[in-house]
Amino acid sequence: MDLALLEATLASAGQPRFRAKQVWEWAARGATGYEAMTNLPATLRERLAEAVPFSTLTPVHETQSRDGTLKVLFHTADGRPVEAVLMRYRDGRRSLCLSSQSGCPLTCTFCATGAMKFGRNLSAGEILDQALHFRRIEDVDHAVFMGMGEPLMNLEGVLAAARRLPDLGITHRRTTISTVGWLPGIERLISDPAPIRLALSLHAPDDALRSQIMPVNERYPLADVLAACRRWNERKKRRVFIEYVMLAGVNDRYEQALQLAELLGTDTFKVNLIPYNPTGTAYEGSSREAIDAFRAVLEEHGVPVTVRLTRGRDIDAACGQLAAARASVTCSRAC
Ligand code: SAH
Repeated sequence: MDLALLEATLASAGQPRFRAKQVWEWAARGATGYEAMTNLPATLRERLAEAVPFSTLTPVHETQSRDGTLKVLFHTADGRPVEAVLMRYRDGRRSLCLSSQSGCPLTCTFCATGAMKFGRNLSAGEILDQALHFRRIEDVDHAVFMGMGEPLMNLEGVLAAARRLPDLGITHRRTTISTVGWLPGIERLISDPAPIRLALSLHAPDDALRSQIMPVNERYPLADVLAACRRWNERKKRRVFIEYVMLAGVNDRYEQALQLAELLGTDTFKVNLIPYNPTGTAYEGSSREAIDAFRAVLEEHGVPVTVRLTRGRDIDAACGQLAAARASVTCSRAC
């Protein structure tokens, strides 16, 4: 929902200020339309239904994985594709993977989103509407900004959306923003008081390799990014998550694990090794044995480490696979 448009419409209808809050509370609790908002006068509900679309996004395709993961492709009002994912875990956790941009201007070589055309930053409303879509289906309790785009290139939109997530049941401590290491954004997060979590997509233990697989490293080199993460950690007293996608023969060797352990130390970071999800690039994922061996080296050196549970790979909903492949298909059918 475009909350600015909502407020303007309510103001021009001469409504008191608390109306916007009432509407938002209904939406955040999973209402499916204005007609459900029984504490609003019926005439106002009708007026809102005409003037303020209930969502800024139109779902155009939905896919469910064997593991319960649900991926939805939306279109914005100007026809930009956006994907978001609901991950369902056995322990009952329900985690949303939200997009901050349509496409991504960065060109990480292993990621499908970077290979599609960059559209634009999403508004706070468009980010929230991804979350509200799933909230209407079931209760949700975690969110990660790990969908399409680089959240810290759209920090205003992302923070404005994140600030409202607690109303949907997702506290700041259960909200994580993931970045390639966009330095100005990390600096900005250091001074933001919300206890939102930070994740850094590192993927290489040295500048040469990192620049090769993530061109953004030329702009913001490793030492500067890690120094900013250390400042974030000092301020927030929380570990920074390190994402490290395991690419066979590229970044998964024994010496690289040692180098990574030395680079990170034991106190500030927690490493999350990510099995590579196929995206049609030339890379191959590390074997299970290689991942376990890499993990063991980090553990031996006292670096906290986990291996990410892959969700939704059979429907291209896993990390790095969001690319709106169906956008054109669905669109040409509809047209
Ligand atoms: N741009 C932000 C947010 C996207 S998060 C960032 O890069 O952090 C998506 C995560 O999935 C990132 O860690 C990304 O590097 C990782 N990823 C990209 N392609 C992948 C792939 N093919 N397999 C596994 N993880 C991948």
